[in-house]
Amino acid sequence: MLERLWFDPTKIYVNGVWDWPRHYRQLPLENPSTGEQITTIARGEAEDIDAAVTAARGALDGAWGRFTATERGRVLARIGALVAARADDLAAIEAADVGKPLTQAKNDALALARYMEFYAGAADKVMGQTIPYLDGYTVYTLREPHGVTGHIIPWNYPMQIIGRSVGAALAMGNACVLKPAEEACLTALAFAALADEAGLPPGALNVVPGLGAEAGAALTAHPGVNHISFTGSVGVGRLVQKAAAENVVPVTLELGGKSPQIVFNDADLDAALPFLVGACIQNAGQTCSASSRVLIQRGVYDAVVARMADSYNGMMSAEATRDANLGPLISAKQKAVVEGFLAKGADLRVAGRGTVLADAPAGGHYVAATLFADVPPTHVLAQEEIFGPVQVAIPFETEDEAIAIANGTGFGLVASVWSENGARQMRMAKRLRAGQVFLNNYGAGGGVELPFGGTGLSGHGREKGFEALYGFSALKTVAARHG
Ligand code: NAD
Repeated sequence: MLERLWFDPTKIYVNGVWDWPRHYRQLPLENPSTGEQITTIARGEAEDIDAAVTAARGALDGAWGRFTATERGRVLARIGALVAARADDLAAIEAADVGKPLTQAKNDALALARYMEFYAGAADKVMGQTIPYLDGYTVYTLREPHGVTGHIIPWNYPMQIIGRSVGAALAMGNACVLKPAEEACLTALAFAALADEAGLPPGALNVVPGLGAEAGAALTAHPGVNHISFTGSVGVGRLVQKAAAENVVPVTLELGGKSPQIVFNDADLDAALPFLVGACIQNAGQTCSASSRVLIQRGVYDAVVARMADSYNGMMSAEATRDANLGPLISAKQKAVVEGFLAKGADLRVAGRGTVLADAPAGGHYVAATLFADVPPTHVLAQEEIFGPVQVAIPFETEDEAIAIANGTGFGLVASVWSENGARQMRMAKRLRAGQVFLNNYGAGGGVELPFGGTGLSGHGREKGFEALYGFSALKTVAARHG
């Protein structure tokens, strides 16, 4: 894999230059499928973040700041084309770095290309308004970039999250400082190299890998940053919002979830089944929008659990290159977290369990996919985000009960309803507390066009789709008095 890299993983990328971090410090980077070290990566610190913010400011004052919206769109389109052309290589890098099965990793690469394509097309279609006002006035609004935007992303979907946050920010003319996760930052660096090749001016995108408490905290505290986009855990999200409050800058928080799928007696079960399981075990359950709860109406409960259990019993976990249903978890630490949750489920009924292939590398962080049934809605496994391949089935009787259970966690990211009753679909869509509601599907193929974000502990603000362009811009009102 290393021979395929077209960038230096040990460096930071600031102002269009690949450089050592100021203190020359490095961090080990592990392949989760084997537990072996792939390379080292830069351990960026406050001085590196400061250099990146300065470079971003310089880009806004220089060539990048003078790009028209159409020119920004064109460069994004070129980046997208390069990403698409390198999709297999990016997938191989992500498989090694995240442990993601190759097919899923390639989907992420293609999604990144599609984000670039979408935001390329959207860049020159964001318009202001003219506002009818007093006699003798003309009033209009302008959509302007915030300035320097900070992007802190997790390890689970680096490419998709870069696409939705950096893509939208660049489309609006911001200059970005990206701090990828210390567990998985190679595709962020690969993306920067492709953006450079596509002609993105120096400083418009800067990438500084490093630890959260060092590079991440330095970015959120930096007074030169005008907007922060954070994707990650609730705990760190709170720290990020506090840091943003100190500098009084807007922040988008894309946090965790405990997203339910609700299956009614009249659901088309054949259509639902692949989604009920697939929406949880994708990326070994390490997905913010994983559907880790399935609420099933009594009339079909036993049948649905039995069919889901069959599916679980056939689930295989193996190294990413084998492209099994599941790869490993990202780290030994994450595996320990998931095993801790499994231990807390010792009193529950295991309805189905997959297999870790016997010849999967011993050093990999594998956990067999597990389905628990008859889980009380207040049980810790039904309340907390596990971030592993663990799903709970919960029975319910009525629509009201389903809503109470579905809305009965602190989270509110995604929900879905499986029913052939259109009126019920509409009622449920209104009452569910979630940023996205899917009717007779889950995720709608992940559409880059669809605004995404949460309520409650799942965060606030929206990324993806056209909506993200509003989040990554500020509105200015201009009122002219001309008599
Ligand atoms: P995490 O919060 O530990 O880390 C996320 C990022 O924050 C990393 O880059 C990390 O280095 C950085 N960070 C850590 N401490 C920091 C600090 N003090 N200041 C600034 N930055 C800091 O999350 P994780 O474990 O990497 O990811 C898993 C979490 O992310 C889950 O809760 C998951 O639900 C969430 N997530 C949400 C979405 C979404 O779109 N809603 C998408 C993916 C993941």
